[in-house]
Amino acid sequence: MADAVKITSPDDPAFDELAARLAEMAPELEEEGAWPGEQLALCGRYGVFEWFLAEEFGGQGWRQPDIFRGYLRLSAACLTTTFVITQRTGACQRIAHSDNEAIGRELLPDLLTGRTFATVGVSHLTTSRRHLAKPVMRAEESDDGFVLDGFSPWVTGAPHAQTVVTGATLDDGRQILVALPTDLPGASVPPPARLVGLSASQTGAVNCERVHVPQTHLLAGPVAEVMKQGVGAGTGGLQTSTLAIGLADAAITYLEEERERRNDLAEPAGALRSDWRRTRDDLLSLAEGQNVCSTEDLRVRANSLALRTAQAALAAAKGTGYVVGHPAGRWCREALFFLVWSCPQPVMAANLCELAGLAE
Ligand SMILES: Cc1cc2nc3c(=O)[nH]c(=O)nc-3n(C[C@H](O)[C@H](O)[C@H](O)COP(=O)(O)OP(=O)(O)OC[C@H]3O[C@@H](n4cnc5c(N)ncnc54)[C@H](O)[C@@H]3O)c2cc1C
Repeated sequence: MADAVKITSPDDPAFDELAARLAEMAPELEEEGAWPGEQLALCGRYGVFEWFLAEEFGGQGWRQPDIFRGYLRLSAACLTTTFVITQRTGACQRIAHSDNEAIGRELLPDLLTGRTFATVGVSHLTTSRRHLAKPVMRAEESDDGFVLDGFSPWVTGAPHAQTVVTGATLDDGRQILVALPTDLPGASVPPPARLVGLSASQTGAVNCERVHVPQTHLLAGPVAEVMKQGVGAGTGGLQTSTLAIGLADAAITYLEEERERRNDLAEPAGALRSDWRRTRDDLLSLAEGQNVCSTEDLRVRANSLALRTAQAALAAAKGTGYVVGHPAGRWCREALFFLVWSCPQPVMAANLCELAGLAE
């Protein structure tokens, strides 16, 4: 393919071509061992990786509301590719905004063009394995850096990453964040987990057996609660809700297409689209800095919308939608992901209340 035109805004006509290509290729990602390498390369050629970084780092520095509009369109086309991009972006932002400017100069140029891949494995510092007495990834100081021992349980695209932004906890409770080169002695990536959905994200653990990480690869810390410092890869943020709302858009669009031939779908499709518009508008208002609701409230609504719209699409598709290969079944499995991805305790509690019929 000749060099693609760079997408420079969410309304760029070139976006239609990219979205159509991603949607066309989405079914291939259901195959065993699939990885969206081609999709990511395509996004690189359309300049998608540039949206998230400021011009000083070689990016296009899109405004937050535009980034969310971009993510809405991408996730409606292919959730797996978009999810992988969020993890890649989280890593790039942590690298770009670290006080360690040298590591940014070394890694960012190839990350921006898509020549290399980086990802994040930070859930053990925020939402995973937090109830265990001992941290699952421990660090001790050495002469020229840190020794990491343990594992990071969830790392999207780990088998394809040259760098994993991950964290570890020292004996005194302080934490560090490092850009871990995956080829360091002692670092290993077991085969990724088989998942209910998004298996092609190739998410799994990264193991560290006394891995010496030089000081040159330290991004932040040692400090208490390192993930609360800096930019990128936090939990429960608007980005997660954006992808849920994008998935809901795909499911409602399917219902709307079916409605053309089936009058009985008009009312539910219309009601779900109205709900979607309200949720999307609140997302974009929050991204503009208007305090229309809390981030957590939006996440709870976005999760609910993704689950309800995907199931409505399946109900409309009937048994045909239950056959592997139909997008409605895939959307249902993908919607479940939002119940577990980067889900802070209050969001999980609210989702459980809704499922238990306890919500107002
Ligand atoms: C497909 C996928 C991709 C992901 N990608 C990434 C990524 O790229 N980067 C990243 O950093 N994170 C990623 N995550 C992690 C995600 O954001 C959450 O951190 C993760 O889903 C939390 O689930 P957990 O099972 O590890 O939680 P845990 O809280 O560790 O729960 C594990 C088990 O422990 C038990 N348990 C839980 N709480 C308690 C308690 N209080 N007391 C006793 N027992 C308890 C339960 O039986 C539970 O099943 C990903 C997750 C998924 C599913």
